[in-house]
Amino acid sequence: MSEPQIVWLRRDLRLCDHAAFTAAAQAGPVIPVYILDDETPGERKLGGASRWWLHHALEALEKDLGRHSSKLILRRGSVCDVLPALAEETGATTVHAMRHYEPWWRRAQGKLKDKLDLQLHDGNYLMPPGSVTTGSGSPYKIFTPFKDSMFAAIHGFEVLPEPSLSAPDSWPESDTLADLDLLPTKPDWAGGMREFWHGQHGTSAAMDRFEQFLDVSKDYTDDRNLPGEDATSRMSPHLHHGEVSPRMLWDAMSPYTSDGAHTFRSELIWRDFAQNLICQFPNYAEEPYRDGYDDNFWRNPNRGHLIEEELEAWQMGRTGYPIVDAGMRQLWATGWMHNRVRMITASFLVKHLLIDWRHGEKWFWDTLVDADYGSNGTNWQWVSGTGVDSNMFVRIMAPLSQSEKFNAGEYIREWVPELADLADEDIHDPSEKRRPKDYPAKLIGHKEARERALETYRAMKD
Ligand SMILES: Cc1cc2nc3c(=O)[nH]c(=O)nc-3n(C[C@H](O)[C@H](O)[C@H](O)COP(=O)(O)OP(=O)(O)OC[C@H]3O[C@@H](n4cnc5c(N)ncnc54)[C@H](O)[C@@H]3O)c2cc1C
Repeated sequence: MSEPQIVWLRRDLRLCDHAAFTAAAQAGPVIPVYILDDETPGERKLGGASRWWLHHALEALEKDLGRHSSKLILRRGSVCDVLPALAEETGATTVHAMRHYEPWWRRAQGKLKDKLDLQLHDGNYLMPPGSVTTGSGSPYKIFTPFKDSMFAAIHGFEVLPEPSLSAPDSWPESDTLADLDLLPTKPDWAGGMREFWHGQHGTSAAMDRFEQFLDVSKDYTDDRNLPGEDATSRMSPHLHHGEVSPRMLWDAMSPYTSDGAHTFRSELIWRDFAQNLICQFPNYAEEPYRDGYDDNFWRNPNRGHLIEEELEAWQMGRTGYPIVDAGMRQLWATGWMHNRVRMITASFLVKHLLIDWRHGEKWFWDTLVDADYGSNGTNWQWVSGTGVDSNMFVRIMAPLSQSEKFNAGEYIREWVPELADLADEDIHDPSEKRRPKDYPAKLIGHKEARERALETYRAMKD
């Protein structure tokens, strides 16, 4: 019998369209392993909501592997120690893995290559970063030309089927899923997440949900902006944890030619764009790209600003702006927030409260089930106007008119129950008279906040 092959899994918790599984299965018996590594990512270890999702994704993958009479080996510790030790223990000659681009994974991949035969495979993105470049051969920094080049370069995908797996002569020891301690217990804050995502973990549940989305995808271009409608795919945690690949979604969508389907493909390209940015700028989620947005620009507790209290009000959904509060409470309860509302809440933190976007990015990192180093950092810098693209800081979103424009009344009623009895004309911006006693006053008025932000920007430019 040929030598065992390790498949090292990270954010690619699926069997189909998984080039590492396919290559390993062709070479010999396969030992799939997931290592919970809180050391290698440093400050970027998984947040609470991501850990909750991970538990369920691993559970679903264990079941899928069981269908192949295979197993998932679970270990804990630094991958640079655990993987070489596991290879030695099992006599595995090669470790196969999908390639990941977060800076800590790139460093670890480099180190591991010195210690063992690590074969990295592509396929977690539509195309590997760097596949399309500007006319002069440089990586893109602006989304629209990147997107156009991606559309021109993609001619469909051949999605890899689930490989048939053979088992090694003997299986190495494994931790249990419970040993990884991924679920919250004291307190158990995951009740809302269990309800919202009930029955939706793993590859086949994700693809079932995607099939339902395809039926309504023709209206996606407009309806995706309406927070009260279930009009987006909700694929983000599945894509982030790799229960599905974007190529699987692109392929499933290939018979669909509507405008909505085209817009959806563009959104998948945004995800690739974010990876391209973190490959060019590994600290993109940590440092503003543009000059001037340093500690002196933002309100700062060292200069007497009470940002802690305001930050907490934003986190807990008590800003006095119904659409902002609805979004932040949806996030806290479910680990997910509608994209339009992510933009509104992020803009509110950065421009209305003048709080450094990195505080918001960190909060999202801990509370989103789809928290993604590339996508989160890219979108926070985009909303803040501090990033590579041209979305200026001075373009200030008005949360109250956004709420009306995108018909967020029902969404607010669902997530801010104190306001549930307000009429449509009051719900977006309740007057002092109509505002229920248990709902907070606005942290700051829109006009005042706007002027303060513009003044701060002018002072920075001078
Ligand atoms: C401040 C802020 C932070 C964000 N943080 C994250 C994050 O940590 N992880 C994350 O996956 N998305 C993030 N997004 C992007 C976007 O909000 C989510 O991908 C989307 O809301 C997920 O819902 P969906 O799967 O129903 O999206 P759909 O509308 O169905 O889109 C399909 C897929 O396209 C991708 N996509 C869509 N929009 C974007 C985008 N703007 N950037 C990158 N990929 C996109 C996602 O993978 C998404 O699942 C963030 C957006 C903002 C404004």
